[in-house]
Amino acid sequence: MPLALIVHGGAGAIAPARFTAAQAGCAAAAQAGWDVLCAGGSALEAVTAAVVALEDNPTFNAGTGAVLTREGHAELDAGIMDGATLDVGAVAGVRRVKNPILLARQILPLPQVLLLGSGAEAVAEQHSIPLVDPQHFIEAYRRAPSEPQPDDAEPSLRVEGKHGTVGAVALDGAGHIVAAASTGGMANKPPGRVGDTPIAGAGYYAEDGVGGVSCTGQGEAFIRLVVARRVCEAIERGADAQAAADAVIAQLGARTQMEGGLIVIDAAGHIGFARNTAAMSYAFCTESMATPQAGI
Ligand code: ASP
Repeated sequence: MPLALIVHGGAGAIAPARFTAAQAGCAAAAQAGWDVLCAGGSALEAVTAAVVALEDNPTFNAGTGAVLTREGHAELDAGIMDGATLDVGAVAGVRRVKNPILLARQILPLPQVLLLGSGAEAVAEQHSIPLVDPQHFIEAYRRAPSEPQPDDAEPSLRVEGKHGTVGAVALDGAGHIVAAASTGGMANKPPGRVGDTPIAGAGYYAEDGVGGVSCTGQGEAFIRLVVARRVCEAIERGADAQAAADAVIAQLGARTQMEGGLIVIDAAGHIGFARNTAAMSYAFCTESMATPQAGI
């Protein structure tokens, strides 16, 4: 099977001053995942490595770089799906987990698919997944440079010094597909608000023999349209990854008038990505490429 991997660093009104950092962060994360795949590692390991790299990069709105709620806390969401087993692991509203994707991966083999807040953090404690003081996220947020806002930016997508839900999809040599997503959610969200990022089928989806998808954008719209699964349905009807991505982003705009983007790999190893926002940072690797190709 051909190997393939793609990551994104969020869609929205990314300030031009951040273009270089966002693309470099995506390229580094794609390389981290690609190294795993090329060494014979699984798509699960590759996607995890790529998302950890993005969560640890304060450029992005995930892990350390998460935005804060209206009340000034970070509430992090993440999810991962294994296309071989259709297992899902997800967390929502965690405040102390440094890398929510590592906790989501720990939940993957459990009978539960989604754990919230303190219940999820108890699993992190049991499995020695690094916990931090909630101040870790608040201080990182305060350190982030503030950026000029475009006057016409959609308020919920305004850049707040850091920006960008993250996600990754990989296809490994055994034909297994894994997709994941991680976010701090919308800036200034009401406490308790959960978007699409931890919701399988909406924010991410993977199914061997079909494809894998990871989304970014106005999460409520992605939940309503079940966007990630919708992309896989387009692939099942015969579209390749790019055609499926384009078709579903067009539906997102037409049916909800909301904004976002997504990345896709189909079972044949084709890469696709699309957005109806001003920008979306991404990077991908295929076997014909010497280094990750990044863009925005
Ligand atoms: N989809 C994320 C959410 O709704 C936000 C984003 O992708 O920018 O929480």
